[in-house]
Amino acid sequence: MKLTAIQRLTLLDYPGHIACTVFTPGCNFRCHYCHNSEFVLPEKLEKIRRDFIPEETFFRFLERRKGKLEGVCVTGGEPTIHKDLPQFIEKIKAMGFLVKLDTNGSNPKMLADILEKKLVDYVAIDVKAGDMKHETQNTKQRIQDLVYGSGFMIHDSSDEQIKEVTSSSYESFCGTSVDMDAIKKSRDLIMDSGVDYEFRTTLVKEFHTDEEYSKILDFVKGAKRYSLQNFRGSAGCLNTKWETYSGFSKDELDNRRKRAEKFVKYSEVIS
Ligand code: SF4
Repeated sequence: MKLTAIQRLTLLDYPGHIACTVFTPGCNFRCHYCHNSEFVLPEKLEKIRRDFIPEETFFRFLERRKGKLEGVCVTGGEPTIHKDLPQFIEKIKAMGFLVKLDTNGSNPKMLADILEKKLVDYVAIDVKAGDMKHETQNTKQRIQDLVYGSGFMIHDSSDEQIKEVTSSSYESFCGTSVDMDAIKKSRDLIMDSGVDYEFRTTLVKEFHTDEEYSKILDFVKGAKRYSLQNFRGSAGCLNTKWETYSGFSKDELDNRRKRAEKFVKYSEVIS
């Protein structure tokens, strides 16, 4: 496993634990608001490939942090696109660290394997939008206009082509084809696993309307923990059009948190 970066200390990424965070290269999604384009887009990754951090360097760093750090957050990109992720996590666990995995939920097969082998202590799944089964044609049109304006195009991760599609809001948000059944399977796996977990959404005011947010709450219904993160429109979004979009005010965000409390056991706004 090659790594794109190591954050040596975080008090925020792993709830309740002092941890470090490692970033894996590449992602199968192309979320418009993504601020990690250098870790996602193949052409940008190519430019930093020579600076990738070898696994051995990371494990030497971790050895020196024994007794100081409690856990390791594995994030991306999307970690589960790497076949050797389970072995990588296994080595971290063998050193006595807790492991938190961040994922977009698109690889339930690997998630099931990781859970079965008890390789993770905490899983955070990003829920980008609501379940597409509730979607009306009007919603699709509104979202597609929002994302690209006229002439909607989408990235197809299977063949790296850009193609025109009639897409759901989940796919529109992620800028790629999405297997919603896979995401649902990941949701169900984690909720039944007994492992600590959270679902979380980065809320974009222009995208996450009341209708969209209701669909998300329906999707995470019954969850242990749901975290809301506010979108901050700034330079560096994967789709530059989204740099002009905004998050919610403090009150609006808090109202959404209160709404979430009726659907999940615990809900919080995270920075
Ligand atoms: S925000 Fe989207 S594109 Fe960016 S790393 Fe996460 S899943 Fe991938």
